[in-house]
Amino acid sequence: MTNKTKQKLIVTTVKTTCCYCGVGCGITAKVNSDTGEVIVIGDDDHPANFGRLCSKGSSLAETLELSSRLLVPQVYGKPVDWATALETVANKFNQLIDQYGPDAIAFYGSGQLLTEDYYVANKLMKGFIGSANIDTNSRLCMSSTVAGHKRTFGSDTVPACYDDYEQAELIILIGSNTAWCHPVSFQRIKAAKENNPRLKVVVIDPRKTPTCDIADLHIPVKIGTDVALFNGLLSYLYQENALDQEFIQQHTQGFEETIMAAQNDALNVATVAQKCQVAPHILETFYRWYKETDKTLSLYSQGVNQSSSGTDKVSAILHCHLATGRIGKPGCGPLSLTGQPNAMGGREVGGLAHQLAAHMDFYAEDIERVKRFWQSDNIADKPGHTATELFDAVADGKIKAIWIMATNPVVSMPNADKVKQALEQCEFVVVSDCVAHTDTLDLAHIKLPAAPWSEKDGTVTNSERRISRQRALLPLAGDAKPDWWIIAQVAQKMGFTDGFNYQSNVEIFREHARLSGFENNNKQRLRDFDISLLADISEDDYNNLQPTQWPITAKRPQGTARLFDQGKFFTPTEKANFTPIQFKPPANLPNQQWPLILNTGRLRDQWHTMTRTALAPRLNQHKPEPFVEITSADALDYGLNQGELAQIESAWGKMLVRVVITETLPQGVIFVPMHWTAQFSSQGRMGALVNPVIDPISKQPESKHTPVKIKAYDAQWHGFIISRHPLVLDGIDYTVLVKGNGYFHYEVASSKNIRNWQYHLANQLSPYTKELNWQTYQDDKKLLFRTACFSAKELQAVLIISPHSRLPERGWIGSLFDPLRTEPLKDDERMALLTGKPPLGTPDVGNIICACFNVGEKTILSAIKDGKLTTPQAVGKSCKAGTNCGSCVPEIKELLISHLTVTGS
Ligand code: SF4
Repeated sequence: MTNKTKQKLIVTTVKTTCCYCGVGCGITAKVNSDTGEVIVIGDDDHPANFGRLCSKGSSLAETLELSSRLLVPQVYGKPVDWATALETVANKFNQLIDQYGPDAIAFYGSGQLLTEDYYVANKLMKGFIGSANIDTNSRLCMSSTVAGHKRTFGSDTVPACYDDYEQAELIILIGSNTAWCHPVSFQRIKAAKENNPRLKVVVIDPRKTPTCDIADLHIPVKIGTDVALFNGLLSYLYQENALDQEFIQQHTQGFEETIMAAQNDALNVATVAQKCQVAPHILETFYRWYKETDKTLSLYSQGVNQSSSGTDKVSAILHCHLATGRIGKPGCGPLSLTGQPNAMGGREVGGLAHQLAAHMDFYAEDIERVKRFWQSDNIADKPGHTATELFDAVADGKIKAIWIMATNPVVSMPNADKVKQALEQCEFVVVSDCVAHTDTLDLAHIKLPAAPWSEKDGTVTNSERRISRQRALLPLAGDAKPDWWIIAQVAQKMGFTDGFNYQSNVEIFREHARLSGFENNNKQRLRDFDISLLADISEDDYNNLQPTQWPITAKRPQGTARLFDQGKFFTPTEKANFTPIQFKPPANLPNQQWPLILNTGRLRDQWHTMTRTALAPRLNQHKPEPFVEITSADALDYGLNQGELAQIESAWGKMLVRVVITETLPQGVIFVPMHWTAQFSSQGRMGALVNPVIDPISKQPESKHTPVKIKAYDAQWHGFIISRHPLVLDGIDYTVLVKGNGYFHYEVASSKNIRNWQYHLANQLSPYTKELNWQTYQDDKKLLFRTACFSAKELQAVLIISPHSRLPERGWIGSLFDPLRTEPLKDDERMALLTGKPPLGTPDVGNIICACFNVGEKTILSAIKDGKLTTPQAVGKSCKAGTNCGSCVPEIKELLISHLTVTGS
């Protein structure tokens, strides 16, 4: 047998799903079972992405390292076997329940959990412990959509699907930087627009984000005024006689009161324009396009949901679709883009504290039905604490024990410092996660090693209700176990043996499917979520399950692309509800003390709290540090300069970040990304600042609107260290870790002087290498210090310190640590480390713009200049930038424009 044949035999192909956003892209993974090597490409057959992946999805194989994993259970800091860990958790839970009752226990889950994991967690807490104190980080993400759907449709139903991208003629993106947060959907819309010149795109967002790249119209609405804007639209359509009166009459109720409220709120375009701080002609154009276009699709995301009026915003969007009958038809309807890969699955199993399982609520008949199905006498009979309430109850000592699964609330919750303190004081904190350190895991008494994406097996549901299989690529590493197994084992050890005797994930899926169809035949209270056709699915069929949109029933065996196609809704009358709503400003407004508004959001190449994406060096290069975007006028007012540091403070917390001056947001508003944690930055946790105000109905926090102040940070020195080995940098005000290819890069700055850098560095490197030799340049007058240390001839670390923030480019210094490099540094490279300028002929690529092909800003600008390029396509041809996932094309366009502006060509 030749080597080639041998290689063929050990490479298997596994079809799975991306674990990042709610687009739910299909992945084809090639797995070398001998070496564990994995190659990830898009699944051409998956209907969510047809082979496309964004920069995050296509980097998944680079995040599978074991060195950062939690691989053994730990009890109070000591590694233990599973039996000990599980018994400790079960015994403590039972003891606290005996002492204080079931509400003393809480679970906090995540949209990263698979449906099977989520189902078991919800069953244990609500069905057997007897409390509904289980909520999830999806509360921070899309609970306003759930509330808006239920209020309007009677059920948490997403009516439309991704196929509508290609069929729509007007796509409205509301509060959604789709280009960065749902990149593959964005690319699909972009392609649809290229193929259909009639398709118009409107972006409604206070910021001019990369999504505006494809916008025919950008409406820079004032933060929090979406209700006024959509009430204005409803009012306009009414006045223009552009409503579908027949649909309203036959399929809805409550229209009269609602249109009166809308007219009171937003009588004419001028009133709305004033409220939303938008030019009237922009608004009028949007309203006219909406009136004239039957095939209108509204996509919305966190800008709508994360608001103290999130539920009303969702309702206002839905009202316009109902009033025009644009729902349940191809190319029409509202479609919420969920943030997480399985936010929808969590909703299906009742992962939110106010829901039971299978889209049931805490109505007496639902409680009774689920109780019978689960054969439990101890089912919760009222909703539990939602996320902010839950951590408040931990802080108050009412909740004595909490189990946090696959999420990092110490970073992501609003008022995150309070959450941290609450967990520090909590009697018993259990965290199950796949990585060894997160800000939350570091506070746990019990650490349980859960399987990561590459080792997990089960199902997830994406934004368009499509259930896809996530399949394990690799065997479980160390002692890691699937979440469902861990939860079921704890349940059994707590004494709930019968309900949790699962041998495999397919058994859980069958039960979940059975419950969805269980007594789901009451015409007055039909439930939308029904996958009863899969109730007896065989293991083989489960393993081969193809991506399918629910409902999946005997009547709809192929699944269901669109719902409400018959104009029937899940209310007792089968009519959709209009609800009179009126615009309310955000709860906390800026004032003299806190004059600016903090807006928050995601970046293109990072995911949540960076536990996975930060492991892939190429994903860290686009935006390596936490930053604040601020307009030039505000920067001038507050004495801030591009590239320097600024301290932002709210009534709840502080952060220290790099200043980026931009005109892409309105004056008075600043923007910070949500991703950085204490693992990667000393003061970059934005959650510490965010106000804990919540929507009164959905209980979703207002993460897009926190009053803050900002001031320049007075650093005595700035610098960076690039080291072959990790360092611990205590006592420095500003540190940021950026993992590179073969090196650890730290940005540093402080207001305090640090003496004897060489001594500190030598200490840090001593566990790895003893014999260090140094080359140093020091100019005491200019306060410049540059040093490089070597072990034999191998470069170990480089440190550059300066009184200002203009420092040498990091890219070429990082490239000297390339793990594939075998020869020692040349003389000109050693000299370059002292001068801070790259050796002659070394390309300085600048900030990475294209993460897929690692193409930097300077490379793109040179290509534009040298080749006199005028289009992103030409840039792609010249240097490959933008030719894979396409997420960087908006930035390439910006570079083209800036070049044209500078040269005047
Ligand atoms: Fe993954 Fe979302 Fe990117 Fe698709 S768009 S590859 S699901 S992160």
